[in-house]
Amino acid sequence: MNATLEHTAIASQNVDHFDVLIVGAGISGVGAAYHLTKQCPDTDFVVLEAQESFGGTWLTHRYPGIRSDSDLYTYGYSFKPWTGSTTATAAEIRFYMGEVINENDLGRHIRYRHKITSASWSSGSNQWTVEATRADTGESVSLTANFLWMCQGYYRHSKGYTPQWEGVDDFRGKIVHPQTWPEDLEYKGKNIVVIGSGATAATLIPAIAADSGHVTLLQRSPTYFGTELNGVALANELRALDIDKTWFHEIMRRKILREQQIFTNRTFSEPDVVKQELIAGVRNYLGPDYDVETHFTPSYRPWRQRIAFVPDGDLFRTIREGKTSVVTDQIDRFTDIGILLKSGKILNADIIVTSTGFNLSVFGDIDFMVDGKTVSFSDTVTYHGMMFTGVPNMAWVFGYFRASWTPRVDIVSDFVCRLINHMKETGAKKVTPALRPEEEDMPLLPWIDPENFNAGYLMRSLHLLPKRGNKPEWQHTQDYLSEKDQLPAVDLDNGALIFA
Ligand SMILES: Cc1cc2nc3c(=O)[nH]c(=O)nc-3n(C[C@H](O)[C@H](O)[C@H](O)COP(=O)(O)OP(=O)(O)OC[C@H]3O[C@@H](n4cnc5c(N)ncnc54)[C@H](O)[C@@H]3O)c2cc1C
Repeated sequence: MNATLEHTAIASQNVDHFDVLIVGAGISGVGAAYHLTKQCPDTDFVVLEAQESFGGTWLTHRYPGIRSDSDLYTYGYSFKPWTGSTTATAAEIRFYMGEVINENDLGRHIRYRHKITSASWSSGSNQWTVEATRADTGESVSLTANFLWMCQGYYRHSKGYTPQWEGVDDFRGKIVHPQTWPEDLEYKGKNIVVIGSGATAATLIPAIAADSGHVTLLQRSPTYFGTELNGVALANELRALDIDKTWFHEIMRRKILREQQIFTNRTFSEPDVVKQELIAGVRNYLGPDYDVETHFTPSYRPWRQRIAFVPDGDLFRTIREGKTSVVTDQIDRFTDIGILLKSGKILNADIIVTSTGFNLSVFGDIDFMVDGKTVSFSDTVTYHGMMFTGVPNMAWVFGYFRASWTPRVDIVSDFVCRLINHMKETGAKKVTPALRPEEEDMPLLPWIDPENFNAGYLMRSLHLLPKRGNKPEWQHTQDYLSEKDQLPAVDLDNGALIFA
């Protein structure tokens, strides 16, 4: 795969050809681009991004208070030290990503406003043909690539998920989804009901509570919240010791990733103890008289859904100050003035914020074909949670639920770069994961075990996602500490990848 030879516009069809085509310029796509330039320097690649700029999640979400709830030592890349505060706003994360792009001259590879609509693999030419639509001109664009690197995330950026409620059209106020927050929304002095109690609600409410008239957090059932962030004391100590920033970043990453793993293990080995610890953290902020039992005591085991982090208890402070109240109830219907609850209570609202989650988008809503046949990803089995049986020359970055997303960007990138280099060395043009004879009767299970993690957006669309097997190589183990050693040690010639 020689850069100069490969990036040839095929004059007759005017189709640009690349060794690798990366889909998406979020934290995954920018990381993939960085690793390609470092680990496969002769590789000619392009990044196609539907939006007008980079950032993905951190560009799409513009609601007040938007920030990470992960620490940035682990949400940042392994290769670029994070020097700011432990968590970061969307703007700070985009600034950091912008530095990665500029420092490594990645911008020349990115084509914005290119939404990919289809990708077809041909075993005749051993390449993908990708069709995209340009948002600026409406023009259709065709490109070809030897390898498709899917960094499109997991949810539809254009529209968030809103359940169907009765009477929505009767409501005379405004209904807003945080994913498409209008920049000019005037909420000062208004009564706001936020439906949902996940990380978005927990971030948004402290940011709007002071200026709004009153905020009501309406939830069907309680969620776990983390009130302490790992590693902060160590960060302060390392800063005081004036430790070099590269070391600082690495030490913090190792500490936090290890602590996250220990915490996750404890949620399996002693779930009740962990549950009581999390609830005690909330009670500390809300005081002994608050009804923590009703509003902050989930019925499920910790970590079956993402645990939202509340830095310095900011959400709970607004509750204590009386600026926010929590209602645990069910919606009967919307009315002209607000929401009628199943209990008979009415919540008056000027603005209703539907913080009700995402629509899962399997592979960026791209239509996939392999040799003329439509790919149904739910009929495929995942290879290490990043490649798929029967789908050649394609990899996907899907991060961790219980740790930051980005460590997986780094280790999947290492693997993909190793694979590309291996193919180059051996002259292989095509690599396809396939179950080995001894695995043909392996039980196939959903992408993720709902007993272990059952976030709403995944449960709504689990049937669309690839299957997993019962061996680590045929699943996304969600376990960084073991994957970081296992993936680099994978024998590419052990029969699970068919090269041609
Ligand atoms: C509000 C919010 C807060 C979060 N906070 C955290 C956190 O604190 N820690 C954590 O670990 N995770 C968090 N997450 C999860 C988060 O999505 C991931 O951390 C990470 O941002 C995913 O990055 P990505 O690059 O894989 O995908 P995305 O950020 O989703 O970016 C994908 C990009 O691909 C583009 N794209 C998609 N389809 C196409 C197509 N067909 N053609 C062209 N381009 C396409 C999109 O426009 C987008 O720019 C959060 C998510 C949300 C929504």
